[in-house]
Amino acid sequence: MKLKLIPLFLALSAAVCLAFAACDETPEEEKGADGHTHIAETFHADDEGHWKICTVCGEKFSEKNHTYDAKNVCGTCGYGSDFTKGLTYLLDELTDTYIVRGIGDAREVSALIIPAYYEGNAVTSIGAEAFDGCSDLESVVIPFGVTSIEARAFYGCASLKNVTLEGVSKLTSIGNYAFSHCKSLRKIMIPSAVTSIGENAFEYTSLTEIEFGGTVAEWQDLRKAEDWDLETENYTVTCTNGTISKDGTVTMN
Ligand SMILES: [Zn+2]
Ligand SMILES: [Zn+2]
Repeated sequence: MKLKLIPLFLALSAAVCLAFAACDETPEEEKGADGHTHIAETFHADDEGHWKICTVCGEKFSEKNHTYDAKNVCGTCGYGSDFTKGLTYLLDELTDTYIVRGIGDAREVSALIIPAYYEGNAVTSIGAEAFDGCSDLESVVIPFGVTSIEARAFYGCASLKNVTLEGVSKLTSIGNYAFSHCKSLRKIMIPSAVTSIGENAFEYTSLTEIEFGGTVAEWQDLRKAEDWDLETENYTVTCTNGTISKDGTVTMN
């Protein structure tokens, strides 16, 4: 909820600034040596706090402490202090972001919380086979910055019941066999940003409920590869303006 308020706040601040022309005073810390205003869209974060890195000059700016909510998640950058330790990661050098590679030392964990940041950089992908066959996993929290869940990421996680996508999720793709044989999985939330679901992604799950963040038309347009829902239960997709059953029957609200 807080995350949704931030753009509104920024828009309001901008409007207030426009109303008072004298208000072009960028705080000193947000200006580079030659006077340019630093630019960065995303945060970096660690246990200590969050900051931005200017895409023009590479300088670190806007360094602040986190402001934790009741769930120990920072309302500004999304850093959570309760994340699972011991996972393994791979740095994507093109984007300077991390891919979760595997369960590492957290094999006994049943409630997995994937961090929004690792070593200061955003975590943007759950890698191929990352949690393949982790049969102790019962729940997983996926941070808002994750854009892809790769092939077989949660394949055969037989106890997995709850998949939580935190905040305003940026998830766009769910890979082939990503949740295949997660036989305890009855319900999944699919954010409206998702544009493709890979082949056999949810086969042999117990899906009865899919909560989709977009409209009926958007669900129908979403690319779903072959057998993505093979041998699931007769699920219902709840969209913002209606529902669709597994056989394609649409009921508009
Ligand atoms: Zn700069
Ligand atoms: Zn923060």
